[in-house]
Amino acid sequence: MMYDYLIVGAGYAGSVFAERITSQLNKKVLLVEKRSHIGGNAYDEFDEHGILVHRYGPHIFHTNSKMVFEYLSQFTEWLFYEHKVLAKLGSELYPIPINRLTLNKLYNLNLKDEEETKHYFDKVKELKYPILNSEDIIVSQVGRDLYEKFFKFYTYKQWNLIPSELSAQVCGRIPVRLNDDCRYFTDKYQFMPKHGYTKLFEKMLANKNIEIVLGTDYKSILNDVKINKLIYTGPIDYFFDNEFGKLPYRSIEFEWKHFNKVQAQETAQINYVEKEVNYTRVVEHKQLTGQKVDGTTLSYEYARAEGEPFYPIPTNDNRDLYLKYRKEADKLKSVIFCGRLAEYQYYNMDQVVANTLKNFKEMHHA
Ligand code: FAD
Ligand code: UDP
Repeated sequence: MMYDYLIVGAGYAGSVFAERITSQLNKKVLLVEKRSHIGGNAYDEFDEHGILVHRYGPHIFHTNSKMVFEYLSQFTEWLFYEHKVLAKLGSELYPIPINRLTLNKLYNLNLKDEEETKHYFDKVKELKYPILNSEDIIVSQVGRDLYEKFFKFYTYKQWNLIPSELSAQVCGRIPVRLNDDCRYFTDKYQFMPKHGYTKLFEKMLANKNIEIVLGTDYKSILNDVKINKLIYTGPIDYFFDNEFGKLPYRSIEFEWKHFNKVQAQETAQINYVEKEVNYTRVVEHKQLTGQKVDGTTLSYEYARAEGEPFYPIPTNDNRDLYLKYRKEADKLKSVIFCGRLAEYQYYNMDQVVANTLKNFKEMHHA
């Protein structure tokens, strides 16, 4: 069989590429996905109780990019949604990202405004220069006690590394606030796709020139197809048969529980920041999607070393190993490596969409 493009992986990177190539270049695409569904880690579906769940963990769309928002808006309507997370410590729940309300509740203080909150942080924070890792970036903003309470153990459970072993970008994802803003993100555009992510992907891929093959590892069909170009969005080390050794990824095991009640927890996501609790976070899915039903389904996340690759692990050693693969990848002129796994980057959805659109433009104009 002849195709202009073979695309490996039907997540954002692969699907956006497939959509652009067919709609803008009118070329033929074979999209191969090893899972039984499209959407990559953003995939959602109705569970056996009729609750729409994010199968691979909570996915909240947030971006400051008008271009990304408008591009995706071709494939979905949106529901306004601003994510809020509480951290559980002892029997109490505290706003995370840490803000003025977190401090007042935790330490029984009465900080009245941003100035008093700033003054508090100035007293407790540790000067770190340069900022070398995830411990530095937190203690340099909020000091040791808040770091120990909210970051140290959650991070260890999630990564099996202590924050000083991880790049500053990991814990640096979480801001520190002087005000009472309890939203997890402050981006300009924060929404949920009205009918879910899978529907968004179905619409994106509804072009007669896109042939989708599910449940298939691309390596098993390489000899049966003739292609001009390959776009690869799977793990980069797998592409090169782990030639330089395996790149580590973090995986998650999800435990699913259904309750016959309208609402099970105070907010869509609760982070268990203490070491005594094995799971990291608990998510109530209908609070994400806005679905109005009687029962409710929750997912409990246990981070694992083995399993589907979900997160690249940002350490210096892993970066060095990735760059070895990247050097090989750059030599292959007819292969494009794109996405969270192929670029070994801790990207959010909007970043993957933005990069894919950029890659498409560059390829188109090359
Ligand atoms: P993926 O979605 O991983 O797609 C790659 C696809 O390639 C997969 O479907 C895989 O099965 C397929 N594949 C791999 N190898 C092969 C092979 N050999 N043959 C065929 N197919 C193959 N981002 C946000 O913006 N907001 C969030 O709230 C958010 N929450 C997240 C929560 C979790 C638990 C995780 C893991 C990620 C989260 N993300 C979030 C990140 C988001 O999932 C990614 O940025 C995005 O889905 C990456 O898209 P991708 O196409 O690069 O990769
Ligand atoms: N983190 C933490 N405590 C929290 C929230 C986050 O220690 O309550 C750290 C942890 O290392 C986590 C990282 O910050 O992996 C990034 O958090 P985010 O919520 O962005 O993780 P993701 O949604 O990507 O899993």
